Amino acid sequence: MITRFSVAMTGDTAQDLTDHLRRADGQEDCAFVLWRPSTGATRTTALLTAVVHPREGERIVRGTVDFTSAYFLRAATLAAEHGCGLGFIHAHPKGHGWQRLNTIDYEAEASFAAQTQVITGRPLVGLTFAAADAGFGARIWQQQAPRHYAPTEAESVRVVGGRLAVTLNNRLLPVPSVTNRQLRTVSAWGQAAQDDLARLHVGVVGCGSVGMLVVEALARTGIQNLSLFDFDTVEELNLDRLLHATIRDVRLHRDKANLAARTSRRAATAPHFQATPYELSVVEPAGFAAAADCDVIFSCVDRPWPRAVLNLLAYAHLIPVVDGGIAVDARGGRLRGAEWRAHIAAPGRACLECLGQYDPAHVQAERDGSLDDPAYITGLPADHPLRRKENVFVFSTSAAAAQLNQFVTMTTAPGGIADTGAHLYHLTTATLEHREDGCDTGCPYDGMRTLGDDAPVTVTGPHPAAQQARDARARTVRRWPLRARRAVDDLLHRLR
Ligand SMILES: [Zn+2]
Ligand SMILES: [Zn+2]
Repeated sequence: MITRFSVAMTGDTAQDLTDHLRRADGQEDCAFVLWRPSTGATRTTALLTAVVHPREGERIVRGTVDFTSAYFLRAATLAAEHGCGLGFIHAHPKGHGWQRLNTIDYEAEASFAAQTQVITGRPLVGLTFAAADAGFGARIWQQQAPRHYAPTEAESVRVVGGRLAVTLNNRLLPVPSVTNRQLRTVSAWGQAAQDDLARLHVGVVGCGSVGMLVVEALARTGIQNLSLFDFDTVEELNLDRLLHATIRDVRLHRDKANLAARTSRRAATAPHFQATPYELSVVEPAGFAAAADCDVIFSCVDRPWPRAVLNLLAYAHLIPVVDGGIAVDARGGRLRGAEWRAHIAAPGRACLECLGQYDPAHVQAERDGSLDDPAYITGLPADHPLRRKENVFVFSTSAAAAQLNQFVTMTTAPGGIADTGAHLYHLTTATLEHREDGCDTGCPYDGMRTLGDDAPVTVTGPHPAAQQARDARARTVRRWPLRARRAVDDLLHRLR
């Protein structure tokens, strides 16, 4: 039984629905849609895969809309043939924002919920379109008892592409209370944008030098729900770049995910802030499922395998991934240059593989453990990104800022522009390169759009390095004096 539910679609599908449902004569209209599931750890999303447009005579528009059984059967059969679920959307011509289910709509959808389940093997998804502002509302009709179906309301409907536009269900995700803590932020983009931003569930994958800065900024900006992923332990060599990390964290073998959670709670301006640390990689099944619960993800990793996994989440599961990276050119021990990039993987934009952010051959090398084998790494060319270890905190702040600017642009669309392409900044020449095209033709990720759980690839697997890091921490924590020190340390932090 699905208890937490959401709906997501590409910007193209949203445009297709808007063109069809927003009628010049102001009457109601309707359409059937096909959907596939994306299953997270606690939330299930219905990904809209196609609109089944009505044919001549398949619907009756007379003030309120009705459809013929021929239209229903054609759409349901099509869904069953493609292994999809069936959804039904109708318009409220004067509606604004989230549309709740009224009595007439309830009766109408209830009348074919059972038949939909029988024909497609999946529950009916009901959607309402608010024609005035292109908002949505949604629910899923699940069987509660023999012959009894009832709707479970969605938390949100997400439109993903150039812009991330989310219609939120205020009953399940209440509008945050206004505080003076975000006064300057709100005066920049307005209360409505802030209310939407604050309620996005944001994941940060990799809480290293860039990730920790991103977490700090998101918490200060008022985002109220963060999922923080990192299996690594704070080490002495992190201290020149890891915000908030101290020598004490090194001695206590603190893990980066919990350090990020603890410090973000101190920085948070949202009245009901929640940070959940995961000592996991997103390539591990449990990490992947937790990432699939997010609305948008920051990729602050430097390895190919997690990037490939996030690339799949961006296209197959419609979760935009804000990615970036730093390359320092320090041949011969002298700084010759540095560059950092920031871009978003989402339908309509170029994916991480097409942007050359990782080499698919190295994904396999990482999966079979070669990338954690020093011999394999030394065999790579000296200037290979996987061999380069140079980094400076100042460059991390620039890379984090570049990623955060991409996120702000996608969600608030300054001047009406949400997509400014992929960015590459060169320090030596102070130039910024743009790439504004989408994926290369034949890109497998672009081809897996909206496939969700049905994507024909297995990207997760066991990650021995992550397991070793957790095991090493568990061994040290078992030594009681250290455990006691850690407890006292945490207590002191809470009292501060
Ligand atoms: Zn209605
Ligand atoms: Zn691509």
